[in-house]
Amino acid sequence: MNASAMPAAAGNADAVGGQEIRLANVSKIWGDTRAVDDLSITVPAGTFTVLLGPSGCGKSTTLRMIAGLESADEGSILIGGRDVTALPAAERDLAMVFQSYALFPHLSVAENIVFGLKVRRVARAERDTRLKRVADLLGLSALLERKPGQLSGGQQQRVALGRAIIAERPVCLMDEPLSNLDAKLRHEMRVEIRALQRKLGFTMVYVTHDQVEAITMADQVVLLNGGKVEQASDPRSLYTRPETPFAARFIGVPPMNVAELSAIVPDAARMGAPLSGARVGLRPEALAPVQDGPLAARITHVEYLGADALVDCVVNDAALVMRVGGGVSLGEGDTVRLGFAVEDLHVFDGADGARRDDLVKDVAPLLRT
Ligand code: ADP
Repeated sequence: MNASAMPAAAGNADAVGGQEIRLANVSKIWGDTRAVDDLSITVPAGTFTVLLGPSGCGKSTTLRMIAGLESADEGSILIGGRDVTALPAAERDLAMVFQSYALFPHLSVAENIVFGLKVRRVARAERDTRLKRVADLLGLSALLERKPGQLSGGQQQRVALGRAIIAERPVCLMDEPLSNLDAKLRHEMRVEIRALQRKLGFTMVYVTHDQVEAITMADQVVLLNGGKVEQASDPRSLYTRPETPFAARFIGVPPMNVAELSAIVPDAARMGAPLSGARVGLRPEALAPVQDGPLAARITHVEYLGADALVDCVVNDAALVMRVGGGVSLGEGDTVRLGFAVEDLHVFDGADGARRDDLVKDVAPLLRT
């Protein structure tokens, strides 16, 4: 990725500017568990990084350490070049939005948004100017006098965002802020948050377990697994060049097919390492029924989804899922030949799971049944 080359909303009158966040060898240890284990990541100033991964992988703990709500047991955290590892949350100059965004029910939308500024004794004229700007940005201008109870879930969420961004901090941290919303609102809010971040140019660290949120919003996705970085890259590379089978299967619906080469081509078991243990990856959308295709497959199930269909196939000892257009007529028990483009073939090392682009040229011609 080249996020560091992106100016933080340069030349934009609304820009608050962002600061770089750097975690160096950060760990958090609870009893016997290394919840976050020697984590090193850089979030360039003014860019959007998503911490992604399954439940329990350490996303929230990492965010809370950046926020100063948890202390790091090892390593250091720098924000804008300043070592904040030992500083309390209040001195880290950041804004936060959490899943439970509890608004004050007895205060109006306007009062909720400016609450923090009032506490910090920002002058009235300045508060009003900022409130107007934030309300315009978030489409809340017509709702300022309402109480939270008179708002939809999405509007309440926007008030929570407004409350965070009115502080005009260079760093914003969000932990699953959309998980209480329905699918349509989530989509709208994803677009809105991303647009706001671009416009204001602050640095964002955003936690989610939802791969769609990560892929659609991030400049950089940090995929965590067991407290460690599995892969940190731009969304496109995460999809096109996953570095491990875990990353390959975490992104994409349904997940990439990852099978031992020897399950597809039994002869491969008799070859020496690395081919004998190699694993191959082919996304469902990379497979297609092709006359004279290299793989002989038997169809075990077809799930029709309208625009497309998911076809479960068996090729020797490997079960593979293929995605085809909804109009393709295939049925259980059919035999077909499958094809794929060599560019869509992924190969992983049998021993450590690392991506092995060097083996593609050897593996591709073997995939023939
Ligand atoms: P995620 O946000 O990815 O779901 P968390 O960061 O919340 O994961 O948790 C990472 C690990 O640390 C989990 O195993 C979790 O049980 C553990 N953990 C989190 N908070 C605490 C705590 N306060 N005390 C003990 N263990 C914790």
